[in-house]
Amino acid sequence: MKQGKLIISIDFELHWGIFDKVPLTECITYFENTRKVIPKILKLFEKYQIKATWATVGMLFNESLDELLDSFPEKLPTYENPKLSAYNYILKNKDLIRKYPRFYFAPELIKQIADTPGQEIASHTYSHFYCLEKGQTADDFKTDLLLNIQKAKKFDLKIKSLVLPRNQLNTSYYPIAEELGIENIRTNPDIWFWNTKTPESLQKRIARTADCYLPIHKSIYKDFKSNFGIIEKPASRFMRPISKYPLLEKLKIKRIKDEMLTAAKTGKNYHLWWHPHNFGNQPKQSLKELEQILIHYVNLNKIYGYENMNF
Ligand SMILES: [Zn+2]
Repeated sequence: MKQGKLIISIDFELHWGIFDKVPLTECITYFENTRKVIPKILKLFEKYQIKATWATVGMLFNESLDELLDSFPEKLPTYENPKLSAYNYILKNKDLIRKYPRFYFAPELIKQIADTPGQEIASHTYSHFYCLEKGQTADDFKTDLLLNIQKAKKFDLKIKSLVLPRNQLNTSYYPIAEELGIENIRTNPDIWFWNTKTPESLQKRIARTADCYLPIHKSIYKDFKSNFGIIEKPASRFMRPISKYPLLEKLKIKRIKDEMLTAAKTGKNYHLWWHPHNFGNQPKQSLKELEQILIHYVNLNKIYGYENMNF
């Protein structure tokens, strides 16, 4: 039997992940906490020798608004909904970005992540690019990814893994990604309520949330699959932020631990993911939960030889 694997991926984006949904002024403390929690996550990873892949929005590599503006491509993405374009957001919010650069740029945090043993910096595209939205093109995608790769190169980092924003997976873009050196992509669980090609609905949201606590759908342990030269690494479980209800937290952690146990016993892949900002409302409690999961991993490693890997 092959060894089970724990894969951890973390989407690092700060305000770039939600600039089209929530104004920055409503989430200052949240992102302040997020910045502070990242070194603490890294400490836990070091303590338990955990490898993880950080899918980082490329714009975070910049030092300042001026550097960001300098990086603008000649042709900007052409979404039908202009609100989705980070470039439009930047042009309209220059003063805000100048006032709060720490929520838009994080080169020192990227360096800290990259310098921590076992951590991989991957791409979450340069501009939090949406591959299934109307209006954008394959050329827009290529320009975006190339920019991200060039920015990373300045940090001596080679990007070989990709997580697409909002999990908008567009397989017709795989050959472009492959040509630019991408080897791995995180894919969604093959479940109706994670399907980004059907319209978002309340039903989907409820099922997606409930499934984090109770077995609404059976657990996902997928083999890696090659598709157009790219290896797909399917997600198994999104680690939700702390809820108001302690009982739910117990159920959430139990569900993750049980799934890890099954993966360890049966030699399967289990891919856990979240955003650092999911720790932003309750950083202390979130770190405690993460530590429980990591200790569980260490035990499973001792008993079953359960392994942990980057993408
Ligand atoms: Zn994202």
